[in-house]
Amino acid sequence: MMSSASEEHLVSDLLGKLTLMQKAGQMTMAERMHVTTDDVKRHALGAVLSGGGSHPADNTPSGWVEMNDEFWQAAVGDDDSLGIPILFGIDAVHAHNNVRGATILPHNLGLGAAGSAELVAQTAAITAREILASGLDWNFAPTLAVVQNCQWGRSYESFGSDPQLLVRLGEAYVRALQGEGVMGCTKHWVGDGATLHSMDQGESPLGWEELERTHVAPYCPSLNAGVMSVMVSLSSWNGEKCHGHQFLVSTLLKERLAFDGMVVSGLGWHRLFGQELRFGGESSRQRGNRHVSGIDMFMVPQRWREFIDSLLRQVEQGNVKIGRIDDAVSRILKCKLRLGLFERPRPKSRRLSGDARFGCAAHRAVAREAVRQSLVLLKHEDQVLPLKPSQRILVAGRNAHNLGHQCGGWTLSWHGERDNENIEGTSIWDAISEVAPNAVLSEDRSGKEANAKHRDVAVVVIGERPYAEGFGDIRSGENLLVETGSLVNGLLNPLQPYGRTLQLSKLHPEDLACIRRVADAEIPVVALLVSGRPLIVNQEMQAAQVFVAAWLPGSEGGGVADVLFGKEDFSGRLPLPWPLRVTDQDSNSSDETCFPTGFGLQIGHIKRRCCSTLRGAGEAWPRPYVGIKRGNPIFPITRYDVNSVRVRPYI
Ligand code: BGC
Ligand code: BGC
Repeated sequence: MMSSASEEHLVSDLLGKLTLMQKAGQMTMAERMHVTTDDVKRHALGAVLSGGGSHPADNTPSGWVEMNDEFWQAAVGDDDSLGIPILFGIDAVHAHNNVRGATILPHNLGLGAAGSAELVAQTAAITAREILASGLDWNFAPTLAVVQNCQWGRSYESFGSDPQLLVRLGEAYVRALQGEGVMGCTKHWVGDGATLHSMDQGESPLGWEELERTHVAPYCPSLNAGVMSVMVSLSSWNGEKCHGHQFLVSTLLKERLAFDGMVVSGLGWHRLFGQELRFGGESSRQRGNRHVSGIDMFMVPQRWREFIDSLLRQVEQGNVKIGRIDDAVSRILKCKLRLGLFERPRPKSRRLSGDARFGCAAHRAVAREAVRQSLVLLKHEDQVLPLKPSQRILVAGRNAHNLGHQCGGWTLSWHGERDNENIEGTSIWDAISEVAPNAVLSEDRSGKEANAKHRDVAVVVIGERPYAEGFGDIRSGENLLVETGSLVNGLLNPLQPYGRTLQLSKLHPEDLACIRRVADAEIPVVALLVSGRPLIVNQEMQAAQVFVAAWLPGSEGGGVADVLFGKEDFSGRLPLPWPLRVTDQDSNSSDETCFPTGFGLQIGHIKRRCCSTLRGAGEAWPRPYVGIKRGNPIFPITRYDVNSVRVRPYI
């Protein structure tokens, strides 16, 4: 985006009024739990964030408005305050997922399966409106990671493995989000989806061509669309951490791609440079310059005072040039101006603050449509679908009636494992029981009630439990620990990843047992997989007549029932290859093939209906089919080796 003369003028005017200390403050983003309004005022902090699951005591839109109003007041409102409004950033990665009562969308991988830019724009718009209803202004989204291996714990945050799909969906998201008045942040720059052994925050060994074609390309349309911020990845490119990477951040992003917005660090970036660089444990000249080489805004959840002191010391010592500081602060101010933050009144008085549409039926209708479009039918035999409302359906499986599992990570808590009782929505069981009065839920979900005399068909909902970031990694061999990477909620605490294999029968054997229990009773099985990624499910698939990938659908289970009962046909297509093991005898067998990207079946003969939109009363939304064409996979990949990693020389 080009700066206008008046923008340049305003920025340089403001810059001229700031002391060096205030400039360092503007470059600092602290976590809400570790900062007071007095701190904001005294240190002229540029931004505050809420980490995953971090929320005010009153976790309602008005509680958030109240909180940000106090921060805003400290930055701008008092006579002796600096007068530069503060930004509040949050990870609203599948709608405004930290706030109670929010609409929860399918995670991005499901939106990738839907493949519709129009749908993504709708989801970004409702996300923006719910963010604005809570008085905030900045979303750390969309993720533009191109996932190369679904063992990665952040696979579900990605739209998929095809850069062209990401190009369309990422741009649509950015335009819609920013169009509604919320600052976007594409992340994580760059190559985060291609780490070796799919280790979160690991090393991406890629040649330049591959990096550019696959991982840089999805950013370009979003940059052209004026995305205001870009977050740097905690991973490395060919041995060097992206955070200190002069070429990737300064040369490529800022110079060659002409990005003139704000570059933001990841959370926990200070760990990357070793003990001596933790906030300037007196580093060398070269290192000092390196860690601020291109980053403008630093996310320092807790120890932000040390960061500011360190930055000031490095400037004094000549390790960090004042020109670099001025450039960073100018970019931050430019973003605040472009967002219109200077003109916005205090959060309490903003037009959409406390807006009653937060979590409303119209927003949930968009989420439900997103669920409908995201489901991918992988197997269909014996004409089991569509289900009929009159059927006596047995609903079983661990994930049949569990909103927390259905929503996955980044839902009220970081990993999505806490606070599930406060998610407002419809579980898959709730949705089925609304349509089918003769359906019953297996008491302990095991399917022990299976009896063909009393039941016509079963829906068995299986899959993963929630996780976030590296804790969702599937790791075998070495590297069996994950570091949380942040100090938001306490001490650094190395923990176990999700598991050692993608095979569901090993991760959750009770799922296969449940399907077999029902199948042995000669009841046809519709298996629904709720998961953040493809898993190896050959055995489960063999035992069931129908197999559906439901991804992490979010709060609107109704979308699942709509499609199962034939209100709409399946239209989702795999946004990444789905690994299959032909024989399940030998877990070390390299005998793997896959369902290719673009694969997805349909029931057929179902009339498509239009759904309503947010655009205006009565206006029909033509069914978005802009996505992957039916029967025409983008990448007809037939072999997929989950351990394959391309290693090319770094040029
Ligand atoms: C925070 C997350 C963050 C993560 C980084 C957590 O403690 O809640 O927002 O992404 O740390 O590792
Ligand atoms: C995560 C980002 C997130 C940020 C704030 C980082 O560590 O990698 O995805 O936006 O923390 O929670």
